Amino acid sequence: MTEQINALIGKLLDEHRLSAKEYEALIAGRDAEAAEILAGAASEVSRRIYGNAIYFRGLIEISNICKNNCLYCGIRRGNTDCVRYRLTPEEILECADEGYSLGFRTIVMQGGEDPYYTDEMVCSLIREIKRRHPDCAVTLSLGERSRESYAALREAGADRYLLRHETANKAHYARLHPAEMSFDNRMRCLRDLRELGYQVGCGFMVGSPFQTNAHIAEDLKFIEEFQPEMCGIGPFIPHEKTPFRDHPAGTLELTCFLLSVIRLICPTTLLPATTALGTIDPLGREKGILAGANVVMPNLSPTSVRKKYELYDGKICTGDESAQCVRCMAARMESIGYRMVVDRGDVKK
Ligand code: SAH
Repeated sequence: MTEQINALIGKLLDEHRLSAKEYEALIAGRDAEAAEILAGAASEVSRRIYGNAIYFRGLIEISNICKNNCLYCGIRRGNTDCVRYRLTPEEILECADEGYSLGFRTIVMQGGEDPYYTDEMVCSLIREIKRRHPDCAVTLSLGERSRESYAALREAGADRYLLRHETANKAHYARLHPAEMSFDNRMRCLRDLRELGYQVGCGFMVGSPFQTNAHIAEDLKFIEEFQPEMCGIGPFIPHEKTPFRDHPAGTLELTCFLLSVIRLICPTTLLPATTALGTIDPLGREKGILAGANVVMPNLSPTSVRKKYELYDGKICTGDESAQCVRCMAARMESIGYRMVVDRGDVKK
């Protein structure tokens, strides 16, 4: 490790921020030793704030029907080979009930941008989950909606919203999305969510096509400024039925490095070790935790639809029952000295 990298790590630890150029230099100049030092510092910060707790969130993939055509995503509308499904409100409530009985006190509803789920329908779902399980936090990840829609969902009781910014560079955004989608609208959504009082999650894919270190530096500057309560990062993984089928996947190494950097930028942020990370390496999620992540999101979707919510090739855990997923994940966390915590796990301020 060079003296320069050592100094940058020290500065990041002390000040929780670097200039864009410094982030870029840190990424470009990293080596195994730098990664180890950063991971040690990041997991120590996480332990100081959250102890050895890993927050478990129950994820329900409510629909793979999507009106968007993001170039990287396996459920883009242009993928005519994708077998589509949507869960009925009754099915979603059953998944939530099962999650509750497995102990989860955060239920996440994620899906493609499926117009079937009107505000009215999502609001009544949120209200019903909250009526049955008042001690649960409800997290939504349903893409871009109007401010009025976000306001209605919040009013109905939604606590948190996950909407990755995908990239903080406008030109890069335009290379990952069709012309009909806009960077400005994505950012508008994040601002609206914040103003409406949600706990907000942003994030990006590591190694997305055309991504440069300078782009990642911009993502880190954005995270520094936005101070998200949650931050989802995972490796890009190509899907064979998308225009990016021939692009290489992001790496475990860079993803873990960036998890550590983000932990140091936002010490209290809730940082998942994602399914994508577990897909590119059999111990990816464990390695993510050891690099500073503190959240995992086991799947609660009915096994009948698991395989169909395929954002990228080779997605893991598509055959397991929810209870199996939870047990497997709890054992994985214990194997590295952490423990499953199922309570709401709000961000510590
Ligand atoms: N429609 C919702 C949920 C999207 S799926 C929304 O727009 O927020 C959740 C995340 O999966 C996306 O934000 C994206 O960053 C990630 N994702 C999509 N395709 C991927 C791929 N090929 N590899 C890795 N991650 C992917």
